[in-house]
Amino acid sequence: MPPMDADIARILIHRNDIQRRVRELGLRIAADYDALGGDMTIVSILAGSLIFLADLLREMPSKKLKIGLVQVSSYREESVPGTPETLLRLTGDVARRHVLLVDDILDSGGTLRRVQHMVRQAGAASLRTAVLLRKPGKAPPDVPAEYVGFDIEDAFVVGYGLDYADYYRNFPHIAVLRPGMMR
Ligand code: 5GP
Ligand code: MG
Repeated sequence: MPPMDADIARILIHRNDIQRRVRELGLRIAADYDALGGDMTIVSILAGSLIFLADLLREMPSKKLKIGLVQVSSYREESVPGTPETLLRLTGDVARRHVLLVDDILDSGGTLRRVQHMVRQAGAASLRTAVLLRKPGKAPPDVPAEYVGFDIEDAFVVGYGLDYADYYRNFPHIAVLRPGMMR
């Protein structure tokens, strides 16, 4: 297979800029949750937020917290063509705890809306959301994200955990694919 870099059209956010921003977010989140008091749980939405989560955690080394995970998988119901279904599975200790949801990107907000609802139903004491990326025009007002890494243009991006067909998650920068790579 040719190297992955050949598939990339341009780099939108360089890894150094990501690292700097994630450090800022980590410090701010740790300070905010210290001020909040009580117990903290970070719930991360798989798999796109894996690298963001890992880097964010490394920026809050003295914060006592638990980790939970949500798996969201889309599949198509064969009897209803064109209808995407979403399966959600939440692990982790959420009830009566201050929860920070972590996701890679806020686009139409459909995913986060469901997961936010799920975490509230599970009895969280409070809920805030951190996303690395947000596509401005599209993020709906009823799906709040209190911590946002970068507002980006409305392009399909990969890298730093974000995939296309499960590839490119290990590409270190946020990047746009060459036309023709997505089919
Ligand atoms: P939403 O429900 O907000 O439309 O998007 C939810 C999920 O779609 C995100 O968590 C992410 O996994 C995926 N997604 C949305 N936009 C992009 C994008 O530009 N690139 C990639 N790789 N995934 C995206
Ligand atoms: Mg996702």
